[in-house]
Amino acid sequence: MPVIRVKNHTPLRIIGRTLLEAKSVLLFTHVNIDGDTIGSAMAMTRFLRRKGKTAWIVLSSDFPAYLRFLTDDGEGENVSRYCTADPEKDLPGLFRNPDVCLAVDCSDAGRFGRFSDLFFRGTTVSIDHHTTNNGFASMNYVDDRSANGENIYRLFRAIGETPTKEEAEALYTAIVTDTGRFQYGAVNAETLRIAAALYDCGIDQQNITVHVYQSERPEKVALHSRILNRVELLCGGQIAVSTMAYRDLAETGATVDETEGVVETLRNMKGVEIACFIRESKEGGVKVSLRSKRTANVAEVAKANGGGGHLRAAGFNSERTLPEETERMKRVLAELI
Ligand code: 5GP
Ligand code: MN
Repeated sequence: MPVIRVKNHTPLRIIGRTLLEAKSVLLFTHVNIDGDTIGSAMAMTRFLRRKGKTAWIVLSSDFPAYLRFLTDDGEGENVSRYCTADPEKDLPGLFRNPDVCLAVDCSDAGRFGRFSDLFFRGTTVSIDHHTTNNGFASMNYVDDRSANGENIYRLFRAIGETPTKEEAEALYTAIVTDTGRFQYGAVNAETLRIAAALYDCGIDQQNITVHVYQSERPEKVALHSRILNRVELLCGGQIAVSTMAYRDLAETGATVDETEGVVETLRNMKGVEIACFIRESKEGGVKVSLRSKRTANVAEVAKANGGGGHLRAAGFNSERTLPEETERMKRVLAELI
């Protein structure tokens, strides 16, 4: 698969050298943290610390419970030993002048949420896999692979390094989640070779599966059943649309990151080509998640609305109310079919 030639394209070998020459690295993930962004960041943070660097992850949003095992190993390590949501207070020195700011799995600087300005100090580096990436850093490596975790694994290889078990587990988590457990179209032989190489690093695949896929809280199941109950099928069943009102969270006791996976369930229905999940945010605007199965280009729809993503998985935020955006998206998607 091709490397996407964005502005300031930089080979992984050069990026690796830049990171190895740095003393301190501040890592940036995207908002609505998922397995790929935090898996990529955790693997890099562990690796950079192993090389004697000071490395910290700036948390753009809450660290989802189902991914916390990546930081909780037998040594009793926890999230706060790797991440901060308040860098100015927690990391005064590093916050003011890190040698390198490294973004992982972020297509544009807006994806850092409230830390968008904080990124632009020191040397800025971005490793990403979104075709909608706009080349925002001073060094960019963008390759349209199934998960950004593949790119991070290839960074290790480009500098002749092998991930430790914990680093490999973070990378495996990145890949298994962003590929929907190796189902999606971007998966190829190289994805599986990288997964195999991560097994060779000693990963505990069963443990990852239990944490990521078999630890759902009843509150999450209750939220999903509400959302699935509301599904509307349009265009003869080719479009599935559902919504979440902000009060659904309080009423079920679920957290916002527990909406994870519901849009994929909508797409799983027979005959559905496009799935659309719209959730109300606390402030009143909405977040739209789009998925397609075989033909529709949802990245284009998201991009046209100020967001981005991939051919088959994309999203955007809007200031419209939930009912307004829901009606509008029904019209927009019907035109795509
Ligand atoms: P999700 O629907 O799971 O939040 O996101 C699906 C895909 O679209 C992910 O690859 C994510 O990075 C991308 N995406 C979601 N929302 C946005 C957005 O507001 N802006 C951009 N640039 N990408 C988004
Ligand atoms: Mn990703």
